[in-house]
Amino acid sequence: MKNVKLKSPPLEPKPAKATTRRTGPRSAYRTAEVEEIFRRFSVQRPEPKGELEHVNPFTLVVAVALSAQATDAGVNKATRQLFAVADTPEKMLALGEERVRDYIKTIGLYRNKAKNVIALSEKLISDFGGEVPRTREELVTLPGVGRKTANVVLSMAFGQPTMAVDTHIFRIANRIRLAPGKTPDEVEAHLLRVIPEHYLFHAHHWLILHGRYVCKARRPECERCVIADLCKSPEKTCDIPAPLVELPPQAISVAG
Ligand code: SF4
Repeated sequence: MKNVKLKSPPLEPKPAKATTRRTGPRSAYRTAEVEEIFRRFSVQRPEPKGELEHVNPFTLVVAVALSAQATDAGVNKATRQLFAVADTPEKMLALGEERVRDYIKTIGLYRNKAKNVIALSEKLISDFGGEVPRTREELVTLPGVGRKTANVVLSMAFGQPTMAVDTHIFRIANRIRLAPGKTPDEVEAHLLRVIPEHYLFHAHHWLILHGRYVCKARRPECERCVIADLCKSPEKTCDIPAPLVELPPQAISVAG
């Protein structure tokens, strides 16, 4: 009998979006799977919120700059009093480095951060008329503001869809092979390619909150995960997705 060769399924799933040629590992998910992952996140948290307290773009820049290697809860505790007396670059400058240091001394690296807060206030006044600029190129010229901080500010203060890759996002993107990359910049570029545009605006918060509450660093809590059936992480411990319901407010924006 003639041997009939059966068509075998492709070994590698199709990448989520095949746009440009690129190096490095591909996303392990098909376009429809990525769509479904973010649809579920959007049901859980229809309006996810950033956890850093702020009252205007200036205080957001300061809060994000202070949050490096610190928890949002710790930053909020310190900035509540600081922003009550200094919510503009002019007032921050008038307060002076020493007093800023006193307000934020519970936050790690506070000496250096106080220096940066004063320096960035000065630069905002001298170069930008006291206003927070609206482009990444300008934002990263401010002392203590890197690409990640700039992305958070563009998204939260000015509603621009960006992908600020923090420790949670970097871990998830690689762990579940959604957008593998060796550096935060690689992961950022990869996520921007694979996440459907209509989910991009909230994707940053969804991934952070998913990483903070479910797909945790030491041990992912897969039995509580709404994408457990879709997840392709070698670390996952459960295939059954958790019930898809909207979460209570404390799991949407509470500081952790
Ligand atoms: S199934 Fe587990 S490893 Fe996969 S995303 Fe959910 S929590 Fe993370």
